Amino acid sequence: MGEITGCSTCGDVRLRPVLDMGLQPIAERYDKCIVHPLELVECARCTLVQLSYEVPAAEVFPLGHPYATGNTKALREHYARLTSEISGDLVPRDLVVDLGANDGTLLDGYGPRVRRVAVEPTNQAVKCLSKGYTTYQVFFNAHAAYLIRKEHGQARVVTACNVLAHARDVHDFLTGVKYLLEDEGVFITENHDVNVILDGLQVDTVYHEHLRYFSITSLTYLLSMHGLVVQKVEPIGTHGGSFRMYARKQNTSELTGRATQVAMQLRLLLDKACAAGPVYGIGATTRATSLVHYAQLIPYIDCVCEVADSEKIGLTIPGTDIPIVDEARLFADQPPYALLLAWHLAGTLVPALTARGYQGKFIVPLPEPKVL
Ligand SMILES: [Zn+2]
Repeated sequence: MGEITGCSTCGDVRLRPVLDMGLQPIAERYDKCIVHPLELVECARCTLVQLSYEVPAAEVFPLGHPYATGNTKALREHYARLTSEISGDLVPRDLVVDLGANDGTLLDGYGPRVRRVAVEPTNQAVKCLSKGYTTYQVFFNAHAAYLIRKEHGQARVVTACNVLAHARDVHDFLTGVKYLLEDEGVFITENHDVNVILDGLQVDTVYHEHLRYFSITSLTYLLSMHGLVVQKVEPIGTHGGSFRMYARKQNTSELTGRATQVAMQLRLLLDKACAAGPVYGIGATTRATSLVHYAQLIPYIDCVCEVADSEKIGLTIPGTDIPIVDEARLFADQPPYALLLAWHLAGTLVPALTARGYQGKFIVPLPEPKVL
């Protein structure tokens, strides 16, 4: 908040003044008048045009923000055309997520055969909810993406129309987009074109809500920082001159492919093991947290056993509800399978636990999932 001293995309501090519009009240605050500086500056490195001063989000976006997309007929038709075009590539049950969904106008166009998720921080979210869309009333960021993916899986399409200009931390936002998007998914974003604003003297579209003003160049640069590759750009008429950008994730590396494959094999193996009874993890090590989250093992593990004097007993594996328990439970309950989260110690752990009376089988998760 306050004066912005570096480029919000690349961090460069060489910000050239473009247009100073003086001190101004917040555009859609009808209840009070507090003035703040309103000035455009341009980054010498990545060419992003942005405001030089940031007003607190709660002041610019009060919960009762009055703007509703659905009130503008041209916008309703615009989004209907977009979703109709996208829908050709969707199959039933695909997940589509609209960021800054406002009253759900864009999501309306998809129809009920796909799963629709709305993310909207203002009370317009109530309208999304009343339309039956899964709704998160939050500012979108990496944490919101984590919660959505945990609950619904990854998205085939993520849309963000006239939202990137508003995001407080655009890197947190795009980290979330990339996390939420399927490897083959598409991120579609529409933004007002800064060249249209400056050349066409649309200075009345400069206000505190819009922290940044993109060109195709500056947005392409920003997306590339997050491994999002622009596939197509088209000019659109919204707001007197905008552009729509389609981006996909960079091709995943061979390592990602192998790691994803192993994670899937491990889930298949654990799925079979769960049919025989509960699965206990062995060893609440640091690496256990990484594996449990990366391979999405939360549903398969009942608890994780630690040696009796461990200070971790009574806690849960970070980011999960999986309890960490005294390993005495392993011998008392005799679960049919134990997952060796401390698999790098298998050589000593397996004989030791067996000698102490555990009669079930051990699953080694990496580098190749197998039952001992
Ligand atoms: Zn920059």
